Amino acid sequence: MSHSVLLLPGDYIGQEIVPEAEKVLARVCELYDLDISTDYALIGGAAYDAEGDPLPPSTLEKARAADAIVLGAVGGPAYDHLDRDLRPEKGLLRIRSELGLFGNLRPAIMYPQLVDASSLKPELVSGLDILIVRELTGGIYFGQPRGIRRLENGEREGFNTYVYSESEIRRIARMAFELAQKRGGRVCSVDKANVLEATVLWREVVTELAADYPGVELEHMYVDNAAMQLVRAPKQFDVIVTGNMFGDILSDAAAMLTGSIGMLPSASLNESGQGIYEPCHGSAPDIAGQGKANPLATILSVAMMLRYSLACPAGADCIEAAVGQVLDQGLRTPDIAGSGVASVSTSQMGDAVVSALQKS
Ligand code: NAD
Repeated sequence: MSHSVLLLPGDYIGQEIVPEAEKVLARVCELYDLDISTDYALIGGAAYDAEGDPLPPSTLEKARAADAIVLGAVGGPAYDHLDRDLRPEKGLLRIRSELGLFGNLRPAIMYPQLVDASSLKPELVSGLDILIVRELTGGIYFGQPRGIRRLENGEREGFNTYVYSESEIRRIARMAFELAQKRGGRVCSVDKANVLEATVLWREVVTELAADYPGVELEHMYVDNAAMQLVRAPKQFDVIVTGNMFGDILSDAAAMLTGSIGMLPSASLNESGQGIYEPCHGSAPDIAGQGKANPLATILSVAMMLRYSLACPAGADCIEAAVGQVLDQGLRTPDIAGSGVASVSTSQMGDAVVSALQKS
C-alpha cells in the first residue's frame, strides 16, 4: 500500500532536524519495503517570508492530501513583530484545526542512558513510560463566550468557558482506551469533578465508555493530585487522558521527568488516523544554523507516525531501537551531553541513527 508524507520544516532548527528525520524514514522504507512518497511545503515564518501567510493555501491543500505530516517547529524573533494573524504560531494552530486534530499524544519515556538528566531521582524515573492523551481542540481554550468586559462598577472582568460535549469526551476517551489496550492496559482519567460541572460530565462519559473496554483498568484522579503523583511516583501511570488545559500543563511536567526537550516526540491525530508528528520543542533560534540541534525528538516522531498513521509498527520499533543504540554508543548532541562530554552534530546524530537501523 502506498502512503504520502508531507514534510513541513518550518523555522530555525526546524530546517535542520526535519531533513534528518527524512533520512531515517527513507532508510526504514528500504528496510521494510514501504512505498512512502514525501513532499515538502512551507509553514510558519518561512511561509510568511515567501508568501505573506504562515499557512498558505498550497500547504493546506498538500496537508489535506497527505496521510501524515512531519513538522519541525515554527516561530522566532524575526517574526515577533507581526500581527497576531500573521504570526508563525497562527499557521500551526490553523493547520491543527483545519485537519481536526483533536487527540494529542505525548509519550514521556525515560531512556536508561539519560537517567541522570532527569530532575527526579533515578529510581523514580528509570523505566518510565507514560503516554499522555490530551484533548486538543476543545475545552476552555476554545469555549465561548470568552473575553474581557467592563462591569457596571467600571471594573474589568476576564472570562472563559470550560465546555465539553459528550461526543468530544467520548472520542478522546476512546482513543485513550484503544491505546491502553496496546500498552499497559491502564487509563487514568484526570479531571476536577469536585469543582467543575463540565468535568463531572467528563467523568460520567469516560466511566460509561469503560464498559466497552473490559480489559482496560480505569482510574479517575483530580488534576491537583495527578500533578503531585507525576512528580512523586510517575511510574504508577500508563495512559493519562485529560482535557485541553490540564493536558497542556501535565504533559509539560511529564516531559521534564525525562530530562531533555530534544528527546520528546508528539503526535496529533484526527478521527481518520491522519496526524501531524512533531517534536515537543520549539524552533530554538539560539542554536539554529550551528549543527547543535538534537534531531532525536523529530526522528522519534517519525516512529510515532509509522505506528499510528502508516500502520508499520515494526518500522516504529526499529527506529526506537536504533535511537537506544546510538545512545548506548555514547553519541550525544550538546543538549544531552553534559559538561565536558564530547558531542556530535545534528547530521552526525541523524547518520548514526540511519546506520543503526536494523530490520528485526
Ligand atoms: P524552544 O523549545 O525553541 O527552546 C527552549 C530551549 O531548548 C532553548 O535553549 C533551545 O536551544 C533548547 N532546545 C529546543 N529544542 C532543542 C533541540 N532539538 N536540541 C537542542 N536544544 C533544543 O522554546 P523557546 O525558546 O521558548 O521558543 C523559541 C521559538 O519557538 C518561539 O518563537 C516559540 O514561539 C516557538 N515555539 C514553537 C513551537 C512549535 O512549533 N510547536 C513550540 C514551542 C515554541
